[in-house]
Amino acid sequence: MSTAELDASKLKVIRKEEPTVFEQNADFTFGRLFIDHMLVVEWKRESGWQAPEIRPYGNLSLDPSACVFHYGFELFEGMKAYRTEDGRVTLFRPEMNAARMNRSAARIGLPQFDAEQLVELIGKLVELDRQFVPQRPGYSLYIRPVMIGTSASLGVTAPDSALLYVIACPVGPYYKSGFSAVRLLATDNVTRAWPGGFGDKKLGGNYAPCIPSQEEAARLGYHQNLWLFGPEKYITEVGTMNAFFVFKDSTTGKKELVTAPLDGTILEGVTRDSVLTLARERLSPEEWDVSERYYTISEVAERAAKGEVVEAFGCGTAVVVSPIKEIGWNDQAIKIPLLPGEETGEFTKQVAHWISEIQYGKVEYNNWSRTIADLK
Ligand SMILES: *Cc1c(COP(=O)(O)O)cnc(C)c1O
Repeated sequence: MSTAELDASKLKVIRKEEPTVFEQNADFTFGRLFIDHMLVVEWKRESGWQAPEIRPYGNLSLDPSACVFHYGFELFEGMKAYRTEDGRVTLFRPEMNAARMNRSAARIGLPQFDAEQLVELIGKLVELDRQFVPQRPGYSLYIRPVMIGTSASLGVTAPDSALLYVIACPVGPYYKSGFSAVRLLATDNVTRAWPGGFGDKKLGGNYAPCIPSQEEAARLGYHQNLWLFGPEKYITEVGTMNAFFVFKDSTTGKKELVTAPLDGTILEGVTRDSVLTLARERLSPEEWDVSERYYTISEVAERAAKGEVVEAFGCGTAVVVSPIKEIGWNDQAIKIPLLPGEETGEFTKQVAHWISEIQYGKVEYNNWSRTIADLK
């Protein structure tokens, strides 16, 4: 029996009767103010993907036994739409998010879909609510695709119905004036992800269990956790970002940009991949190595003591880069250098600039920035 594929051409649109008057100069706190519409698509095991619908933002109605509420059938994505100076709205590498969404879905028995159809549907949603894509530099529209299992049954089995929906909210720049660097608490009493687990997927179940550690870090005066893994105390990620360090060999003078390898315990960040790709292409191989390898908190502590740590940062869609200035580890404070008078390292600043000029359509690179609406 064949079931229906996700098909953007079957889209039905129900418009909100009175569109919100969007205040471009409002001060939007992350994730509070949502655009007028949402995209909703139902899936049923017998018949497949139903006709996609864009309808006014509003509550979902689910049976209290729906499996999402009991067994964690939930995954999400995070991506952004940008308004370019020449009046287009673009998405940054959206096919990467859609493909990752399918990998997350596969991990928990939820259905897969044609990634390009979802990109097209998100384009339609953003185009309809284009007034919410802020015009100001550094601002963007944060897009949150979600998939949940909706089967009304307490049986622990693969869901026979699911809901894919997309909501979005306008967001301001992460840094209001210049960068601001963070202090991290190296955390080894809680393990964020483990081999054979699911820490490499954007499943809701990965996030709630990290909150008590985040609160503990905050109580001790830190911004985020630096997640360590195993007896070796490998550095894995920073909060909900991928981590990068720059080392400099004091004998040869050669620099190395390092991040942990994708071994199933590291989220496959689109920003991480973008940083690695641009670094490999644009940094001089005589002066730089770019490595995906294991590295430990001890390596960082020892090399920081020798003056061999140049800079460090976390990266992800929400912030692009988040410079690191200090790591609390046992009773030490490992200091990470910053540029004089600035709260960032040199490469951190450079790569943030490279990525943002592609996102805002100032530089064309490998079709990373895809136009979804032309408002000229
Ligand atoms: C989303 C996420 C990232 C960053 O991924 P991007 O695609 O760059 O936004 C990194 N680590 C974790 C744990 C995440 O959830």
